[in-house]
Amino acid sequence: MSLRIYNTLTGKKEDFRPIRDGQVNMYVCGVTVYDRCHIGHARAGVVFDFVFRSLAYLGHRVTYVRNFTDVDDKIIARAAERGISCDALVDENIKAFYEDMDSLFLKRPTHEPRATQFIPQMQELIHALIAKGMAYEAEGDVFFAVDRFAEYGKLSKRNVDELESGARVAVNDAKNNPLDFALWKSAKPGEPKWPSPWGEGRPGWHIECSAMGRELLGETFDIHGGGKDLVFPHHENEIAQSQGASGKPPANWWMHNGFVNINKEKMSKSLGNFFTIRDVTAKFDPEAVRLYLLSTHYRSPIDFADAYLAEAENHLDRLYATAHRAEKLLAGETADAPGDLRQKFREALEDDFNSATAMATLNETVNAANAQCDLIERKKGDRKLLAGLHAALREMGDVLGIFNRPAAEYLLESRRKRASSAGIGEQEVETLIQKRLAARAEKNFAEADRIRNELAQKGVELKDSPTGTDWIITAK
Ligand SMILES: [Zn+2]
Repeated sequence: MSLRIYNTLTGKKEDFRPIRDGQVNMYVCGVTVYDRCHIGHARAGVVFDFVFRSLAYLGHRVTYVRNFTDVDDKIIARAAERGISCDALVDENIKAFYEDMDSLFLKRPTHEPRATQFIPQMQELIHALIAKGMAYEAEGDVFFAVDRFAEYGKLSKRNVDELESGARVAVNDAKNNPLDFALWKSAKPGEPKWPSPWGEGRPGWHIECSAMGRELLGETFDIHGGGKDLVFPHHENEIAQSQGASGKPPANWWMHNGFVNINKEKMSKSLGNFFTIRDVTAKFDPEAVRLYLLSTHYRSPIDFADAYLAEAENHLDRLYATAHRAEKLLAGETADAPGDLRQKFREALEDDFNSATAMATLNETVNAANAQCDLIERKKGDRKLLAGLHAALREMGDVLGIFNRPAAEYLLESRRKRASSAGIGEQEVETLIQKRLAARAEKNFAEADRIRNELAQKGVELKDSPTGTDWIITAK
């Protein structure tokens, strides 16, 4: 099999062929930095981080561009509201963006341009569109003339006539057609502004991505991604501008990730079911958040609820516990990951980056590794086999972006968190474990069982193995 990617433009999964063999150029729309990132940003971030990692795993070199929109109406309004400069607001939110995305173990893209660093390239593009009669100036603003681009609507499958009849015409609007959108906006007093042939002003949102994509990746690149909410109008407008200017489509594949719902309702500030990334990572392990976000295929909607995150944390504990158990038994033995598991994992990635299927293969590997650990503990196992399974775990974990911490460290931290939220004293548990071991040594099995039950009542489950007694918290 080879890689197939669903293309929003054609509505089908298609065999992926990069423009240059072995090199993939990918542009993903970043955030408008006027506020803290929410869980919808986390999904887009994690999804395209997984795509980035998967492409590299499948043998491609990837140039990945993710921008910051650092000039925008929302930024201007928020800065004014808070009585600070746009620059101060932007710097603060970019810093917070990195804290959030680093906490989720996102790899840094190859380029992270800020829109305001590409004003000359945007003006050049606007100039070219005006020269071709596809854009016009009106009272210091420049608009794209939608009816001059025959393919308008091809990405979002919208019909221009229907859009036109549904569009409201704003009072005092200088546009020729209500669908026309701004490429350049004249500056109002106090707003950030740059000189231009059309007067002082700032770029419209859509032109930013067209200019940055073209400058950093070329007139046509392989993949353009973003959240589903960006299909219309943002990406439709990007196509109109880029193709309008160069005659070539800006990207061959358009990839869009689905929405995040909260307890089955659309996430929105007005409904009050709005979570920032830091709200969520304060309660749940960031790797569990990743695991949860990747448990559903990227195109499907995903429902966010505490119960699901708690399940993902249990899953993560099991993954780390298996890695830790294997590492102790391996005592340095190494081997390559088994070919069949590798093949299965690869096929999951090649099927439109199916993270859910990839995760099923990871779980299969976990089961096989635990079974091999059981055998080794009974002196019947094969260390080479376990070493291969352990290597497979690490390899798959790396593509999913988990196992970022040493297993022993993670497990200690997880147990501490669970013990404290369940109101269990760690020292108390350790003391009872020692008492139970002493009882067993004296063959007082009734007392040993009593202690085990006492701990079970508190939600502490004991795990005996030849290397000692370990414990986990099962109740939350
Ligand atoms: Zn964009």
